[in-house]
Parts: sequence; C-alpha cells; structure tokens
Amino acid sequence: MWTLIPGVQSYEWGVPGGAPNSLVADYAESTPELQFQREASKPYAELWMGTHPNVPSRVIQPDGSQASLNDFLRENRSLLGLDIVDRFGADNTCGALPFLFKVLSINKALSIQAHPDKALAEQLHKQKPNMYKDDNHKPEMAIAIQAFEGFCGFRPVQEMRDFVTRVPELRSVLGADGTMDKRLQEAVAAQSRGGEEATVRGAIKLVFGALMRADPQIYEPAVSALAERYERGTDEVPEEVRALIVRLNQQYPKDVGVLCTFFLNVVHLERGQAMFLGADEPHAYLSGHILECMAASDNVVRAGLTPKARDVDVLVDMLTYESKDAAAQRLEAPVWDGDAQKGTVIYNPPIPEFAVLLTTLDPGARSEHRALHGPSIIIVTEGSGTFAVDGKTAEAYIGRVLFIEADQTLQVMAGRSGLIMARAFVEVA
Ligand code: ZN
Repeated sequence: MWTLIPGVQSYEWGVPGGAPNSLVADYAESTPELQFQREASKPYAELWMGTHPNVPSRVIQPDGSQASLNDFLRENRSLLGLDIVDRFGADNTCGALPFLFKVLSINKALSIQAHPDKALAEQLHKQKPNMYKDDNHKPEMAIAIQAFEGFCGFRPVQEMRDFVTRVPELRSVLGADGTMDKRLQEAVAAQSRGGEEATVRGAIKLVFGALMRADPQIYEPAVSALAERYERGTDEVPEEVRALIVRLNQQYPKDVGVLCTFFLNVVHLERGQAMFLGADEPHAYLSGHILECMAASDNVVRAGLTPKARDVDVLVDMLTYESKDAAAQRLEAPVWDGDAQKGTVIYNPPIPEFAVLLTTLDPGARSEHRALHGPSIIIVTEGSGTFAVDGKTAEAYIGRVLFIEADQTLQVMAGRSGLIMARAFVEVA
C-alpha cells in the first residue's frame, strides 16, 4: 500500500477553484505533497491517478522520498502481478498500468466525439498518423460522484423523427424532404416492430450524415435563429431539449453540435450510476462530477461542440448507429462477490483493461476485499476511516489516493461519518 500524489489538469471546461463545488481542487488539496495552490478563477478539470506519461502520479517511498509511479512500477514489476505483465506488458500507452483513473469536474460541455475500435485505430494510424497518433482503442467509463449529464448514443428513432418534423431550422439544415421523412417513418415502424435493424441504422446514418456534412453557411445562422427562438420559450420540444440547446449555444455559439441534441440521448446519472462508452458510439460530457476510467489513446473523432477539426467522413462511416433510450445506456453495477461484507459493487465493462469497485460503508462498518491479482488505485470520495494491507495501516480521508500492489487482501474500516471509496483495477480473466 503506497500513498500516491496525483496530478491536476486545468482545462477551460473545468470548475473554477472559487466555485462552491470545485471537486477536483478539493481532492487535490488533500495531498499536501502535491503543494496545490488553489486559484479562484482557474478552472480545475481533471485529477489524474496513474502512470500516463503526460502526468504520471508520484509515489511516496518508505524513506519518504518521491518517485514517478511509472518508473517505480517498471523497476518493481512484481507489484503489478506477473499475469498483468505477461498480458499487458509494462509499457502501455498509459505507462506501466493498462488504465488511467481520473476525477473530472465538468462546468462546460466537452466536444461530441467517438473513439475508433482497435482495428479502425490501426488503420487510421497508418493512413493519417498526424491525426491519429497511436493505434489503440479508448474505452471510457464514467461513474457519477455527484449529479452528471452527458450525451450517449442515439435516441430512439421516434424522437428524432418528431424533431425533424417539428423544428424548421433543423429541417433546413438537413435539407429534409419527403424522401428523408419517408426513411424516418419506415425506421420508426421497424423499431417499433423490434426488427429490421438495417432500416433503423440506415435512416439514422442518412439524417446524422446530412447534419455532419451541412455547410457552415447554412447551419451557423440556423443554430443562432433556433437558440434565439428557444430563449423566448417554446413548447415545440420538451423543456429539457429547449434549455440544453440554449445553454450549448451559449457555450459554443453557432456550433453544429448544438443540433446534435436532437439526435443524441441525454443521460442523467445520480451518484453511483455509470455509463460505459464503447467504441464507435457518439458521446459528450455536459456537466457534473465523475470518476472516469479509461485505456489511454489520443484517438478522438469529433462531431461538434469544438473549435477543433472534424473528420466527418471517418465519423459518419464509423458510428454503429445503434439507437435506444437513455436509461438503456447505463451500466449495471452488481454487488461484488469479492467483498465478504457485500458492501461493494463492481462496474465491469466488456473490455480487458479495467474494472472499478465502489465500496459504501455506514459509520463504523467494515469491508474486506479479496486479493486482486493485479494492481489497483483507490480514491476516497466521501467520509473517512482506515485501510489495512499486509499489517500496515493508512488513514482514509476525502481525496486520499493510494496504490495497492497485486495479491494483497485489503481491509477497510469506516469512521464516524461512514466512507465511500472507489478502486480501479485490472485482473486477467
Ligand atoms: Zn470520449
């Protein structure tokens, strides 16, 4: 068990240090060795916990000195577990660990994006190495610490059809005509019958492709006109859609991504709820506070809410166009059978690089995690208590970050206010 010193990233979309709810800054202040100096107007976006070469966490060694966690693990590979070294090596795009664990505080929407799967990433990296700098995939999982909202996946096609029928600015940008209406109508019928996936996907690709390929000279004035009209109020669309369009246009005026609101699910997560962002699914973080676990890659294909380049042909071709309702985008978190006291749930997405445990303890309660056959990183998100590993103990308090080596049982004891902790790990199945 080793104390980690995480890294802090300041991006424009983060929460300013002076705001009442700047969680990344609050957590950063818990580690005195970080020597974090909060600034009221500076936005704090991400806390990084891991070995990513851009911001590797530091580890406090037994003699009190500090080392890069990445160097430390490469020199002490047995701490990773030999299965993990065999399977992933100790030189991933994330560094010695195959995953990167983060806290995100989101004040303003991030770009709408999708990430290629491994096969497409290899192809894009070969064809356009300047845009796609590595050949890895980038699965991401978000677990809400506080209320969160994001775009994830395509809406049910009936909702899209209603918007395309009702919203004149959207119709004009899409160049919607009788043919597009008919394709959407067929897709609605097919989806309600629960079959003919190709009809549904084909119609969404047609409509979304038309949006992505629209000329800025057409969509920029249309987005402005729409947002102005919606600011005055409307019952043309649900209130949530109206308000989101107004807000996104304030954050990214005239951006084509504002119109993506009509096509993408708005997913709300309460504390402890999660979503997994698989390959080729469009998504964006809009607001709130999350834990994020990911496999590292820089392969991002953007659709909107960004001043950066959009690779439209690649984007329109890669998406799966799977369409389902917002609730179906959530990732279930069953009780984990590795905690003898059953106080832990597991978020286990269908990829090999990571899973996350969340342990929630009442005041004075205990938990025992079986030995994990791989490395793990813990952050305490609420409350306080004590950790014990291999006869050593460590105090648990909000924002504390620890590395636990492979093959050690972990005891957790909650203090008087209870304790919530998240633990990202990797094991070979
Ligand atoms: Zn992403």
